[in-house]
Amino acid sequence: MTALVTGANKGIGLEIAAGLARLGYRVGVGARDDDRREVAVTKLRQAGGDVFGVRLDVSSDESVAAAMLSLGDEVDHLDAVVNNAGISGPTAAGALQDPLDVPFSVIRADVETNVLGAMRVINGALPLLQRSPSPRIVNVSTDMASLALRTGPIMAAYAPSKTMLNAMTVQYARRFEGTGILVNAVCPGFTASDFTGHSGDRTPEQGAAIAIRYATLPDDGPTGAFYDDNGIVPW
Ligand code: NAP
Repeated sequence: MTALVTGANKGIGLEIAAGLARLGYRVGVGARDDDRREVAVTKLRQAGGDVFGVRLDVSSDESVAAAMLSLGDEVDHLDAVVNNAGISGPTAAGALQDPLDVPFSVIRADVETNVLGAMRVINGALPLLQRSPSPRIVNVSTDMASLALRTGPIMAAYAPSKTMLNAMTVQYARRFEGTGILVNAVCPGFTASDFTGHSGDRTPEQGAAIAIRYATLPDDGPTGAFYDDNGIVPW
């Protein structure tokens, strides 16, 4: 079994890679920084994981194209792609992105990484996914993206970018209907990582569990839905 995890050098992504490796997957550790990627690969190998590094900046067409070529040297198919790489962009006091004054450049950057980044990786990895008998795609989202829940601080760049990622998850699920490719969005919960200034109440390993579950779904598993550890998250 083989997988690619983006943004896997730290935080939740590192633990998704570690968890998949523990399940016996050969895991591509996607990371944009060479040193941070090598440190993560070494750590995962020391824990017994069959992993390899993939230089991957999801915000760059060129980087994703090169990553897909290098992936083809390491694996002949992909059973799972986990789009974990994400940014919130700068916030003001109280972790706010006020829709009245958030710079459009921040919104553009969030969409570039959180939405288009995932799309670049899915589209680039599709030939390798199609060679798997049971391909799975997981988009790491957040319950802050839920239009129904309206949870967390007002974040007019980050939250809507993940709402769009959720919407794109549904578009992909429709596009892949009948192909065996299952694609879902998941929320890791409020997790202690660099992302949250380590203020979350869950460990990265706990946050990783939902992505691992949906990356390893059985063939009769769901597609085009949004889950956290408690089940369906309302859109
Ligand atoms: P994190 O510790 O900040 O890790 C984010 C990862 O994404 C890092 O590896 C980072 O790489 C990578 N990344 C960012 N931009 C990238 C790019 N352009 N190309 C490739 N990699 C890139 O955050 P985390 O808490 O683990 O978050 C992981 C995911 O969970 C994110 O999608 C986030 O939105 C989501 N999430 C987190 C929480 C939470 O409470 N932590 C809650 C809900 C959802 P660098 O090290 O190079 O920056």
